[in-house]
This record gives sequence, C-alpha cells and structure tokens, in this order.
Amino acid sequence: MTSQQTICPQCEKGRLTPSVYADDFQHEGQVIRVDGLECYICDHCGADPVYPDQIRRNHARVADAKRQSDGRLTGADIRSLRDRLGLTQQDASTIFGGGANAFSKYERGDVLQSDSMDRLLRLVSMHPKLLAQLRAIVKPVRVAARVAEPPPPSYRKAK
Ligand SMILES: [Zn+2]
Repeated sequence: MTSQQTICPQCEKGRLTPSVYADDFQHEGQVIRVDGLECYICDHCGADPVYPDQIRRNHARVADAKRQSDGRLTGADIRSLRDRLGLTQQDASTIFGGGANAFSKYERGDVLQSDSMDRLLRLVSMHPKLLAQLRAIVKPVRVAARVAEPPPPSYRKAK
C-alpha cells in the first residue's frame, strides 16, 4: 500500500488498515464460502475499500475455492506441476492446448481449466514420460495444418 492510500478515500479522516473478510459465491448450483479475502478498514468511518492488488489476489482465491470444490487442480497446483515438467507457460499452452496464454490464465485464476484439461494435466503429472509423446503429437499436427492452408490470393492470380 502506498502512503497516499493510508488515508480513507471515503471520509478523508480515518486511516486504513489491512483486514480480511469472508464471502459467499455461487458455483455450479452450490454456495462456496471463501475466507481470507483482503480489504482495508477505515478506523474512522468503517469504510472497507478493496485495492487492485487485493482484488487480483481475491479473484485468485475465489477461483481456487471453485476448483477445490470441483476437485480440480488449483492455480498453485498447475504452476508447480508445470515447474516440475520444466515448461514455461508458453510451452505448456502449446503442448497441452487451451489457447494462447492458457497457462498464465489458469495459474492466475482468470480462467478455470476444463475437466478434460484437468485430467490431462493429472495424467502427465503421474506419468511425466507422456510429455515427450504429447510433443510428438503436437508438432506434426501444426505442420500439417500449415500445409493444408490454401495459397494466398496473389499467388493464385499469378498462375
Ligand atoms: Zn473513513
């Protein structure tokens, strides 16, 4: 927190101190209670502003609570699995799929990985040798897709 944030923006008199709260979230027809959500509390008016860095961490906590409720890997689980396999986020997105930047989104909790992605990750975690086979599958598919593309219009005109 920067010094300009220590004064309450609401009353402009009180001081803000870090605090935590719990909240309920709807997920797959269930209510999930998430503890440890961060905010600040004003000692004068009781306002409880939440700043961007806290919002980001709160967002990740909620995403993890939803994944735990589903029995899926959390953002930290995915990160440690990826580290163990020696992959960058970009490598992991290329090999496992999920689209560009998929792994930074999974790890931050911006996107929850699908059931099939979760199972694939668990499988490779249990059998790391499958990684080499996955790489072999990914490469030919990419090359084949490029060859199958039609030539650009300018090329056809020149014929
Ligand atoms: Zn205040």
